[in-house]
Amino acid sequence: MSVAFEVQGLGITELAEEFGTPLYLYDGEEITTRFQGLREALHPALEVFYSLKANPNISVCALLHSLGSRAEVSSLTELVTARRAGVEPRDIIFLGPGKSRGEVAACLDEDIHAIVCESIGELDLIDEVARERGITARVALRVNPRFSVKGSGLTMGGKPRQFGTDEELLLAEGKDLAGRYPNIRLMGVQVYLGTRILIEESVVENTRRILELAERLSTELGFPLETVDVGGGLGIAYFDNEKDLDVAELTAGLNPLIADFRARHPETRMIMELGRFLVAASGTYVTRVRYTKTSMGENFAVTDGGTNHHMAAVGIGSYVKRNFPMAALERLDEPATEPWHITGPLCTPNDVIGKKVPMPALRAGELIGVQRSGAYGPTASPVHFLSHGYPAEVLVLDGRAHLIRERDDVEAMLGRQRLYAAPGDDQN
Ligand SMILES: *Cc1c(COP(=O)(O)O)cnc(C)c1O
Repeated sequence: MSVAFEVQGLGITELAEEFGTPLYLYDGEEITTRFQGLREALHPALEVFYSLKANPNISVCALLHSLGSRAEVSSLTELVTARRAGVEPRDIIFLGPGKSRGEVAACLDEDIHAIVCESIGELDLIDEVARERGITARVALRVNPRFSVKGSGLTMGGKPRQFGTDEELLLAEGKDLAGRYPNIRLMGVQVYLGTRILIEESVVENTRRILELAERLSTELGFPLETVDVGGGLGIAYFDNEKDLDVAELTAGLNPLIADFRARHPETRMIMELGRFLVAASGTYVTRVRYTKTSMGENFAVTDGGTNHHMAAVGIGSYVKRNFPMAALERLDEPATEPWHITGPLCTPNDVIGKKVPMPALRAGELIGVQRSGAYGPTASPVHFLSHGYPAEVLVLDGRAHLIRERDDVEAMLGRQRLYAAPGDDQN
């Protein structure tokens, strides 16, 4: 008898049969444990906002909302997702460097807590849209600080970036800025310094400097500090040489900073934005091996899903070419005896999910899982490539499996395309 992967007592063989493959499977218990573990350790004054970008499924958002999370959104659809998942407008912030007029209008019409503004030009737009509505918009400034911080997989601050406004530029504006826009109330500061941070001390140091910067800016620019958003960027371990953040150590460093700031600014809302940290560990990308073959002495398992659903596993951006944790899901107890390339159905040599992954001798028909895949999965992948479409998504909650997204079928893929009419065709 082989040992098979299961989620809350549900076996992977049965789940794959019921919902088909390729499939994203999320363990709601893992999300709950992650959120509550952090929430219980973290100073209560620091509110957790879920960054929908990491996994925008409405049920994932609703689960996190039910646990007490707020929402950080970056598009009109993410805003609507958060609202339909039950998040109150006062618990939503909207950020992103290229907001449209329609998105700004939706933020104002929904009356969300704050628009996080990323450029001076955007202030002009927000002011105009607010004036049309006869209201005053609450705006927090996203700042690109002079400092950056070590230990991040992808650094966002301290260098030329399209995000936020440089600290220097804001300081040069001085008190003029707040007065220039009659329909805007500047009320906060947001800084996001990077992602995939796995060093507790880096997060603490980031936060310390962001809080300092927020105080300085609000004084020098002359606006009240109603909100300060310290970003986040908390990572999770993907690779052999990485270690998950120690929540006890992290909060032991963070909480005194929060308490100290709280004492000086009892009315200020304090926000941390988290995506990956909350959802990544919950997800497994499940594919089925269609064929096994050898080429010039190396083993290949060709599966029914590939980089079209899991671009992160290929090694884009900060991931370099390292393998995500992977397993033969129906034979967890069997020793990994040989190296396998795990490849997908796309007609490109880049469609490789894992290179030389140690596995038992793989067989056609069995299930492979890419673990820790709950964040930046299909949503950050070219799901339309070769017209395979979005995979199914299943969330297991309280021992029950819920289909939370249907896989795309041919009509889903073709339904929005239009066959042009050739001359003469339209005359009946
Ligand atoms: C992407 C992003 C996040 C979420 O990042 P994670 O690393 O998934 O936690 C939060 N804030 C901003 C501004 C982002 O761009």
